[in-house]
Amino acid sequence: MEIKITRAATLKEKPDSSTLVFGKAMTDHMFIVDYDEGQGWHDARIVPYGPLQIDPAAKVLHYGEEIFEGLKAYRAADGSIQLFRPRDNIDRMNKSAQRLCLPQIPEEIALAGITRLVEVEQDWVPREKDTSLYIRPFMIGLDAALGVHSSKHVQYIVVVCPVGAYYPEGLNPVKIFVEETDVRAVKGGMGMAKTGGNYAASLRAGDLAEKAGYSQVLWLDGVHRKYIEEVGSMNVMFKVAGKILTPDLNGSVLDGITRRSCIQLLKDWGYEVEERRVSADELFEAAANGTLEEAWGTGTAAVVSPIGELAMGDRKVTVSNNQIGEITQKLYDELTGIQWGRVADPHGWIMKL
Ligand SMILES: *Cc1c(COP(=O)(O)O)cnc(C)c1O
Repeated sequence: MEIKITRAATLKEKPDSSTLVFGKAMTDHMFIVDYDEGQGWHDARIVPYGPLQIDPAAKVLHYGEEIFEGLKAYRAADGSIQLFRPRDNIDRMNKSAQRLCLPQIPEEIALAGITRLVEVEQDWVPREKDTSLYIRPFMIGLDAALGVHSSKHVQYIVVVCPVGAYYPEGLNPVKIFVEETDVRAVKGGMGMAKTGGNYAASLRAGDLAEKAGYSQVLWLDGVHRKYIEEVGSMNVMFKVAGKILTPDLNGSVLDGITRRSCIQLLKDWGYEVEERRVSADELFEAAANGTLEEAWGTGTAAVVSPIGELAMGDRKVTVSNNQIGEITQKLYDELTGIQWGRVADPHGWIMKL
């Protein structure tokens, strides 16, 4: 598919790479491709970044007909630019699309939207250590009618922004609060889809946790209110008595690409990884008998995020002495090493631009 490029008349001043705030400094251009039922995907274009014209009755505004992805472009030491498992993101977007009755987008169109935009914006891929260009592809249903039906007119859009290290002071353990009132997703709902509605459902608990001095919440399953699902908007892993435990993909847990990559690396290193139901009680018992060795979240934005404290009601435990665990650090070093091209990529996860 041909992509028409219209360059911005004036370019923005690029922010200082040492003080980047996540998701604020959008670049000069964006990618858009339209879909209409009967016609398919058409009019792929890169245009100056700016507000979208959307009919106030568009379904996305009323019924949350939206899915998204998140990945990064990394600047390697030789100045070249590379992506990490971008096809996995597109594959996941198409799974999310199925759940929300949005159209499937061919991999080559979705990927070209990403790679061509990053090429146009290559000067925006920062060079400082731990910085990258965050890529946000999303798809929205745009039919202008208030009836509840899936849209026949849809857009796939990609925007990008330079981002700094997720934790500017380095990897620091965070305090986590087990959420017992709200749930983010239930089986049969949209938990396995990367869609805005799940985030809307998570805002209240996140706000309350923050007010209480915690960085994130640990989500429990919506049926039994017992089993761990995710931490904030990351997947979660625990090292208990030498083994790695992580919730299985039961329909309400998102199939994270960082999760998948960590499981592969852990297996490469000889660890036993159990993907299964893990109850909050099991964790607090492990903490009590000294076998809860490490806990961490996994996601593209932070890569891995060590958990130093877990609280549930009036129970509170410290994990790994509130220090970064050995495996947590090793996963961080290895994954970021592969992403920035500092270490070998035996699994073929890197796509060079
Ligand atoms: C995006 C996301 C993740 C992490 O997925 P990655 O592919 O590793 O970035 C985990 N949980 C939720 C709810 C997410 O939206």
